[in-house]
Amino acid sequence: MKVMLHEMNWTEAREYFKNNDISILPVGSNEQHGPQNPLGTDHLIARAIAEETAKRTEVLCLQVIPFGVSSHHKQFWGTIFVSPRTFKNYVKDVCLALNYYGVQKIVIVNGHGSNRCALLEMARELREKGIFVSVFQWWEAANELLPELFKLEEKGHAAAEETSVNLALYPHIVNMNQAVDEEPHKHGVEAEGVSLPLDTLDETGSGVFGKSTTASTKKGQRIFEVVVNELVNHVKLIKEAKVGDLVQKPKVQ
Ligand SMILES: [Zn+2]
Repeated sequence: MKVMLHEMNWTEAREYFKNNDISILPVGSNEQHGPQNPLGTDHLIARAIAEETAKRTEVLCLQVIPFGVSSHHKQFWGTIFVSPRTFKNYVKDVCLALNYYGVQKIVIVNGHGSNRCALLEMARELREKGIFVSVFQWWEAANELLPELFKLEEKGHAAAEETSVNLALYPHIVNMNQAVDEEPHKHGVEAEGVSLPLDTLDETGSGVFGKSTTASTKKGQRIFEVVVNELVNHVKLIKEAKVGDLVQKPKVQ
């Protein structure tokens, strides 16, 4: 069975939408990931997790949306950034197009942490319209399910954890010869409880937050397998759930 929407023709799509009310939508970013990783890291990983989950659950998967909320990486060449509002509205329009064909349950596979706020805001708005959107982030699942696999300094942006998943999925576009370890430096005005609108360049010169030289293909494969399993479970639960149990409840009597 075909699961990728862009590989179906419209009669196959009709067949799917007439019998199913669920879809998977991967989103990510195109931004610097240190000297060793491809710019596409966040959307490439999201796409791989989403496609594998779609195959295992026979749930329709859309093409990945590759550009996200990344302006804080822009001083590194090749980062393509859109505003949170543009990103939210674009993803929302894609979800509404799915809804036109009867989809009421959408599982978003997000590959980039800074997309999260916009996605959750959108999910809340769509729930009011009777569309249930959940947002999955692989590194959060890995934190919970494989807490011992990497040390804290290996879990930062472009560090060993993310590089390992790339090594497992796309070894031909990772260059470990250029991998570096860089401890991010604190800004002079930082204090506990304060959030600062900093850019990546304010904290690291290489774009890596922490240790990346310890990346391992085997660990990356382990993460991929474990997070896909978790997502498969989630998709199955949503698939079986009644829409009425997922969307917003009416006001109290
Ligand atoms: Zn990333």
